[in-house]
Amino acid sequence: MLDIEKLSYWELKSYFRDIDFLIIGAGIVGYSAALHLRKSYPKSKILVIERGYLPSGASSKNAGFACFGSATELTEDLSKFNESTVWETVSMRWEGLKYLRSLIGDQSLKLQLKGSWDLITTNDIELKNITESKLDYLNKRLKNITGENNVYSIDNHTQEKFGFAGIHSSFRNRLEGQIDTASMNRAFYKKSFEQDIMTLFGIEAIDINGNTVLSNLGEIKAKSIAICTNGFAQQFLPEKDIFPARAQVLITKPLDQVPFEGTFHYQMGYYYFRNIDQRVLFGGGRNLDFEGEKTTNFETTHLIQEKLELLLREVILPSTSFEIEHRWTGVMGVGETKKPIIEHIQDNTFCGVRLGGMGIAIGTLVGKKLAEIISA
Ligand SMILES: Cc1cc2nc3c(=O)[nH]c(=O)nc-3n(C[C@H](O)[C@H](O)[C@H](O)COP(=O)(O)OP(=O)(O)OC[C@H]3O[C@@H](n4cnc5c(N)ncnc54)[C@H](O)[C@@H]3O)c2cc1C
Repeated sequence: MLDIEKLSYWELKSYFRDIDFLIIGAGIVGYSAALHLRKSYPKSKILVIERGYLPSGASSKNAGFACFGSATELTEDLSKFNESTVWETVSMRWEGLKYLRSLIGDQSLKLQLKGSWDLITTNDIELKNITESKLDYLNKRLKNITGENNVYSIDNHTQEKFGFAGIHSSFRNRLEGQIDTASMNRAFYKKSFEQDIMTLFGIEAIDINGNTVLSNLGEIKAKSIAICTNGFAQQFLPEKDIFPARAQVLITKPLDQVPFEGTFHYQMGYYYFRNIDQRVLFGGGRNLDFEGEKTTNFETTHLIQEKLELLLREVILPSTSFEIEHRWTGVMGVGETKKPIIEHIQDNTFCGVRLGGMGIAIGTLVGKKLAEIISA
């Protein structure tokens, strides 16, 4: 590809001169930050650079759960992390989902609020009892955040309803839902284009020095630079608590009938599945090899894919024949806590990263907060 310095006067003027805001990464956070900056600075020049020929992060590879916390996952989080940080993060997810809906619209998201089920296997009765003993507390905290009563409830008939095997019961979350990830990403792109936010694909930021980004195609100068590269952010933020976490997914060929509709969490959220287009999308299993999955490599592994297939056959679709059509991976940014990092790094450089596994919910809010600190 042609180096930037060899472009014409016109090309340089259109894309690379007098950039006010340079966003690195065309994911949910990058686009949300750009759209928010556009609101505050209608005449500014905003450029998003993306290293892939398509956005290549988690935003276009995820499972499309519009979720903010299942009962067992929150119970586990509360046993591991600071209580106020856990609730602050849940609140950000809830506010983020509302903001995503207002920004993109339910129709473009193809949002379906059918609720979620957090499955308890017949071997997990202790987990069920621990979570059940916390249910009133969880509901009280969720009432403070959402204004809604009884967000979580126990469902003892999940297995009969949906044809699972080995499932004892579940904790239902009546406010969670699912989106069509492809549709969301197209909407972000379209909206940003309509608002004169330019995206250039195939440009990879390699280093940042003051107000200059050194890219694979040459230098790009901007008044402010925002790092929105999530799972790939270690490169620019080596001192921060953020590392890549690969997540693996598979999808079946269309089934005659999918025996359930909605989003399902299994084993405290380490696995997740849903219906989509007459198929089942199933992902997770990072807990089988945490160290091996700390990678930005996009390969799938036998260990995890075989486990996904086994669970699909034995637990999720025990009475339905299916074939796997496709498998893929994506890279998330995680750290010791689940709270995102939204910071002024130095000079004119800022970051909004560490979105974890619920970036659909939290992403737009992170973008908005990032835009606010850039504007401050
Ligand atoms: C398989 C999978 C399933 C998931 N399921 C869900 C779910 O159901 N619900 C949910 O809420 N969340 C889910 N997530 C998490 C969610 O998708 C992410 O938290 C969210 O998309 C992160 O958005 P982002 O904008 O921060 O980062 P990303 O979408 O990762 O965007 C970062 C962008 O930066 C680009 N980039 C990286 N380095 C450079 C560079 N040097 N120069 C230029 N560009 C660069 C990348 O190519 C990428 O496009 C899932 C994630 C995965 C991987």
